[in-house]
Amino acid sequence: MPAAPSLLAHRRGALIAGATMLLSVFLLTAMQYLALNDRFHAELDTQAQIVGQNTSAALVFNAVSDAQEVLQALRAAPEVTSAQLLRSEGELFAAYRRSGSGAGWLGRLAGEATVEHRIQLNGAPVGRLVVTGDRSSVLRDLAKFWAGGVCIMAIALGLSWFVSRGLRASVRDAQERNRYLALHDALTGLPNRVSFQDALLRATDRPGTEHAVMFIDVDNFKQVNDLSGHGGGDQVLRVVAERLRSLLRPLDMVARIGGDEFAVLIEAPRQANEAAARVAADIVERVPRPIDFDGETLRVSVSVGIALLPHDAHNADDAMQCADAAMYQAKREGKDAFRFFSAALGEEIRRRSSLEADLRTALSEGQLLLHYQPVFDGQGRAVAMEGLMRWRHPLRGWVMPGDFIPLAESSGLIVELGLAALKRVRADLDAWQQQGWTPPPIALNLASQQFKREKHRQRFLAALPELGLTPGMLEFELTESAVFEDITSPDSVLEALRKLGFKFALDDFGTGYSSLSYLRRLKCAKLKIDKSFVRDMRQSEEAALLIRSIIDVAHALGMLVVAEGVETEEERSQLLALNCDLLQGYLMARPLAPEAVAQLLMPQPA
Ligand code: C2E
Ligand code: CA
Ligand code: CA
Repeated sequence: MPAAPSLLAHRRGALIAGATMLLSVFLLTAMQYLALNDRFHAELDTQAQIVGQNTSAALVFNAVSDAQEVLQALRAAPEVTSAQLLRSEGELFAAYRRSGSGAGWLGRLAGEATVEHRIQLNGAPVGRLVVTGDRSSVLRDLAKFWAGGVCIMAIALGLSWFVSRGLRASVRDAQERNRYLALHDALTGLPNRVSFQDALLRATDRPGTEHAVMFIDVDNFKQVNDLSGHGGGDQVLRVVAERLRSLLRPLDMVARIGGDEFAVLIEAPRQANEAAARVAADIVERVPRPIDFDGETLRVSVSVGIALLPHDAHNADDAMQCADAAMYQAKREGKDAFRFFSAALGEEIRRRSSLEADLRTALSEGQLLLHYQPVFDGQGRAVAMEGLMRWRHPLRGWVMPGDFIPLAESSGLIVELGLAALKRVRADLDAWQQQGWTPPPIALNLASQQFKREKHRQRFLAALPELGLTPGMLEFELTESAVFEDITSPDSVLEALRKLGFKFALDDFGTGYSSLSYLRRLKCAKLKIDKSFVRDMRQSEEAALLIRSIIDVAHALGMLVVAEGVETEEERSQLLALNCDLLQGYLMARPLAPEAVAQLLMPQPA
């Protein structure tokens, strides 16, 4: 407890301050005593002088009664207890004694002081006056002074104690507030990641009980933020926090451990899996109820991953990782659900981490290549080609992007992968140029994770002129989710690329959250209808209608429409009939190696 030493230090400080004040009061008292003593002697001396001078004539004329009368004047000085007038030879001439001047206890304590004054007449000594005074007035004055000093000291101490008590209270409040903030999330009031990890550590230290750790992630939270602003996002997080809290027992812990991530710790004497399944089912069912915000109704679902202690993991870190992996599994399988961690998932994690290591090697050893899939117009002319990443793994053989792009995105390797794609394009362009062929513009796919950091944006932007890649040679494709993240940022890489003259295509249109206002703001040259629409078009009249309206809107916004995944002649003609401008798919050409695409597209000498 850090409070004890601070209390001790505080007490010691108060003691030192008190002792210092006492010491100074004592020193002042001593000085005051000396001053009072001096003053007393001076006063006694003055009395002796005045009275002594007045007795000189009586001494000379031997008038004892006159001398006696003069001495009576000493009555006016209360401190004088007695006086003796002596002739110069030492013989007593007259005396004075204060009547009833029996010294009290103070007088006895203070003692007496005596002064002697030589009496002269015309320069000749005629006698001496010895005056004795009671010093109790010195002590009395000293006592008054001391009492005053002590009173002032007590008031000063009292005041400073009062002020410091207020200060101490506010320091204590601030410390408590800081401690609270360090362990809680300000938005939802829930414990934060640090608190959660602490609780988890304590839980793993308690053998004999079972625990379940849950990771809960709000599905598509970014879209809520983008569409309803941060106010909407905050409201969703607050309501989700409240609902989670209400679904759990007071002894269970729910924390907010990241942007839209929550974690739950449940203790169960045994069979934590059953308790966890019950709670998770409740969460998945009851958290996603509509949320009112600013007259709108927001809807979010959540994905939950569960790890069991000690079944899946023995320590806090592993438990968090397992729950996280299970949550991602729930996301991959379509979100809005809960999944338990499993041995197969553990195997999958190991596989992914070994794949990640391999991907690093692939990047450094140049195993990543591009294949090119042409895009044709209605007359069958290749007007562009899309660069699609291929990995020639020395042992695994060809690995397709679906197997490593998501991994590259989640591991951050996508940054290097994007730069590798640019270099590949340059190398392939050089090779084609040597064969005397200038290909149509190449479209590269971009992922938003490539541009999360400013330095990554700068590296990408710098690589283009370094490699001599110009807007005539290169275009970019982005998915809606990539666009969602980037367009709102002021130093958007898209804006920078657009200023350099590069064109964009909006990829996989229809699979994300499609918004017309976004389409307009994006100013994309092309819109690529996702292949799932093309697939559906065959069976469903509605899908065909949808494609027609997408095409109409895109045309109204000045965009060319590309249909992806065209596999049959029937699809091709239907799309062209719907006014689709460009077509891409296995029907016309599969993604091809650089030599093969050149062979296909290079005009053959007549
Ligand atoms: P995408 O951008 O939507 O690319 C089109 C995908 O559809 C390609 O898959 C292509 O081979 C496939 N495809 C083309 N025509 C047909 C068809 O007629 N039928 C069917 N069923 N499929 C067809 P691929 O090459 O496996 O790429 C998958 C995804 O990986 C791409 O989807 C893209 O999102 C991503 N990707 C590929 N290369 C890169 C890259 O260099 N960088 C980034 N960031 N992503 C890439
Ligand atoms: Ca694409
Ligand atoms: Ca696509």
